Amino acid sequence: MIEAVVFDLGGVVMESPLRAIARYERDSGLAAGAISRVVAAAGDGGAWARLERGELTAESFRAPFEAECRTSGIEVDAARMMACINEATLPRPRMLAAIRRIRAGGLRVGACTNNWVGADGCPTDGLQEHFDVFVESAAVGLRKPDPRIYELTCRRLGVAPPRVAFLDDIGQNLKAARALGMATIKVEDPDHALRELAALLGMDLIAEQA
Ligand SMILES: [Mg+2]
Repeated sequence: MIEAVVFDLGGVVMESPLRAIARYERDSGLAAGAISRVVAAAGDGGAWARLERGELTAESFRAPFEAECRTSGIEVDAARMMACINEATLPRPRMLAAIRRIRAGGLRVGACTNNWVGADGCPTDGLQEHFDVFVESAAVGLRKPDPRIYELTCRRLGVAPPRVAFLDDIGQNLKAARALGMATIKVEDPDHALRELAALLGMDLIAEQA
């Protein structure tokens, strides 16, 4: 029996920042996936991971990230890349409507997001009101797929992981949730994911479009 639903934000409740990065790559003449390869190669000690744990701000992230890119043989303007992300990562109204329905149905709803802090804010700013619990990597110093951030989210919801459904657009993040016993849904097409969630919860989550 599912008692709570936890949503990733970017690429789930909001448009995908990965798509914004892909567009930045295209516009800058970089190979597709070049930036995510830099992020993956730098790993947990890299600038992106440190940004998401709140150890760097969007401003202090720029120089070390650009240096990592240069080491990988690509030239990136991190300020422009982050501006692209901030601009394109807007909330998905259908997801917000579904969240309202889930809460109205008596279930608790959390967000568990890898985000950041910076002078221009983060696309996740302003979404707090839609959730009972809002766990931000940059605020708690932990980022998915570290199991501790999922455990923290479940603890704050007051619901054991096996009674929580978790939605994310990144397979690795889902894998870590599944290992804790959470029911997971991969979000590629938002409508498809909502239908899957509706079936899992036994709720009608597809709002009529105005
Ligand atoms: Mg995401």
